[in-house]
Amino acid sequence: MNYSLYIHIPFCIQRCHYCDFNTYAGKESLIPDYVDSLVEEIRIVSEYISPFPLHSIYFGGGTPSLVPVTEYQKLFNALFELTSIAEKCEISLEANPGTVSLPYLTSLRALSFNRISFGIQSTNARDLIRLGRTHTVDDILDAFVFARRAGFHNINLDMINHLPWQDLTAWENSLSRAVALAPEHFSIYSLMIEPGTSLHDWYQRGLMTPQDEDLGADMYEFTIDYLDRAGYEHYEISNWAKRDEENQFRCMHNMQYWLNQPYIGIGAGAHGYINTIRTENVSGIENYITRMRKRGEFRVGLPETPATIRTTKIDDITQMKDSMWLALRLVKDGVSLDRFERSFGKSVLEVFKEQVEELLHLGLIEWGGLKQSNLKLTRRGLMVANQVFLRFI
Ligand code: SF4
Repeated sequence: MNYSLYIHIPFCIQRCHYCDFNTYAGKESLIPDYVDSLVEEIRIVSEYISPFPLHSIYFGGGTPSLVPVTEYQKLFNALFELTSIAEKCEISLEANPGTVSLPYLTSLRALSFNRISFGIQSTNARDLIRLGRTHTVDDILDAFVFARRAGFHNINLDMINHLPWQDLTAWENSLSRAVALAPEHFSIYSLMIEPGTSLHDWYQRGLMTPQDEDLGADMYEFTIDYLDRAGYEHYEISNWAKRDEENQFRCMHNMQYWLNQPYIGIGAGAHGYINTIRTENVSGIENYITRMRKRGEFRVGLPETPATIRTTKIDDITQMKDSMWLALRLVKDGVSLDRFERSFGKSVLEVFKEQVEELLHLGLIEWGGLKQSNLKLTRRGLMVANQVFLRFI
């Protein structure tokens, strides 16, 4: 059994106008105590998962690049002592342009980070301001060059499109400038206007017009074709990896989620999935630190730590449904019928005959893979993927 480890870093300089993530601005003074708590939580997990083999570690946020190198040193000391990190373990850091320097990234590379994911969102200066980002287009260029010089050969760029003020030409320009940097990976999402965000408030007050759904679909189709021509494999609904004969650049950490494999979530608000139990940690930074300091007062044992506020046992049929819709997100591979049967001792057609036949009939899924034994979305299915997934939720 190989695990993936997600470590949440809930600190940001300011909240972006579209963001509803579990993150907090202006609390950087809590970083040292927070990191001590993370080390404690890793120690507790290592007590009940032993050995503790890891093949991916992902520091997500928030803005993990706000954490000083000395704090990461503490975390890596604990990881090297308490877990068994695979030789080719993917170790990713989410970073914001404007928060990194060449010495900082060089130190992180030396600590074993080997993948970096920059949240650039757009290469258009006006977009960055309207989204409430704290960085400029020049910061993006600097951060990218620093990362290359520091020795990162696996760089992801996170982008958002379908912005309320954005037309197709503006998105084409934004994407083409990002492609010119030649990263190894892209994650591209359509903007969701979430309640509680500034953008949502502006909508409510009539300061913005609703997004045009057809334009969103046009942007998605353009992105698929453009990145294909630029040499990127579209392997997941919102993710593209550079085609390369010698290296693979799919995000191994996220593959663990899409293949419905176990992962451990450490930190405030982190989620995990261990031994068919989903876990959720307390969300606030102070609450998290307090719970970890008072570990003796809380129940501890697989899969719970003092930070756990909820556990949900996933029954067999839900595991099978999750495995279907998550794997259908993998647009190249789809659902492997062999893998499904090995995992559950039942065939896909035994469990989901009705749904599969209906979706095949509608032309939304098709047979694929080397032995034609995988079920994957068709191009038409890709455009209405959420409706396909609903058949399994
Ligand atoms: S930097 Fe990322 S996590 Fe932080 S507020 Fe902006 S979008 Fe949210």
